[in-house]
Amino acid sequence: MESQIFAIFPGRDQVQLPALCADLLEEQKKNWPLLASAYAMLAAIHTRLLSCSGYEVYLQFNPARSVSAGAAVDYESIKNRPCFLCAANRPREQKGILYRQDFLILCNPAPAFAGHFTVVHMQHQPQAIAASLTRLLDLAADMSPDFIVFYNGPACGASAPDHLHFQAVPADALPLTQFFPGRFQIIKDTSVQIYRGEGIDRSVLVLAGSDKDLLLRQFARLIQAAQTIIPISGEPLVNVVCSFADGVWRIMIFLRSRHRPDAFYLEGEQRIFVSPGTIEMAGVVITPWELNFNRLDCENIRSIYAEVSVSEDMMKKIINEL
Ligand SMILES: [Zn+2]
Repeated sequence: MESQIFAIFPGRDQVQLPALCADLLEEQKKNWPLLASAYAMLAAIHTRLLSCSGYEVYLQFNPARSVSAGAAVDYESIKNRPCFLCAANRPREQKGILYRQDFLILCNPAPAFAGHFTVVHMQHQPQAIAASLTRLLDLAADMSPDFIVFYNGPACGASAPDHLHFQAVPADALPLTQFFPGRFQIIKDTSVQIYRGEGIDRSVLVLAGSDKDLLLRQFARLIQAAQTIIPISGEPLVNVVCSFADGVWRIMIFLRSRHRPDAFYLEGEQRIFVSPGTIEMAGVVITPWELNFNRLDCENIRSIYAEVSVSEDMMKKIINEL
């Protein structure tokens, strides 16, 4: 186990976490051939900007993401495969930063951005946001200003729903967070401010504030409201992305009705190989297929977003409860 630890945070030498992550990435590119080739491939990927009405989306053609985008995440498949986030099954060359004793920060071997980390709990336990949001907020603060952090719900984007993990990507990677407030309108102006995205085809709220306990309480209320209003057992489908600047956390929450759009399951050229998680919902739509990359347009993006977001009616009911 010890050989898998690259560094410990916080450490006695007070090195900041973003700097440690940059060091980890350099070390891993040198000593883990698979990661070196993943980053070489990443440098050659193509992106295309779609200017849709009210927002912009980057299409990303990234063949290496086909494993996570196509992952079978149903109960039976998950139960019958070895967990790739557990220490026993991780590559021997993969090292991590032990983060506040219970998480390990690892380089994502299929990066969507230059500087893409997976932050894995030391124990095998399921994705669950209500209990782990406090750690996501800590991580957002420790990773600032270079990175933002996010969570994919077990049924809407996580390819390891059975093993608690977050991800970290460069702070400027996701257009919807980078250009906040942009199309967001403030709907409640108290010590926790609540914003709602308008005219961007997604059901999304932002909680902003500097008091961690108040944020946690407001988030718990939101989850409870969603649980009452959305007909689903277990955790409501959410993607949560969190940033921290000048003492203020911003928690962006996408409320989802389903994981993948219908077109994901079509055959041949009709298929749209896009599996929406936080990255896609926040404005970078990744497809491992060149055909999709060349052909997808704003109308496709609009219908994907609309299909996987909760309805306007549910959104209104949830907001009423806050
Ligand atoms: Zn595991």
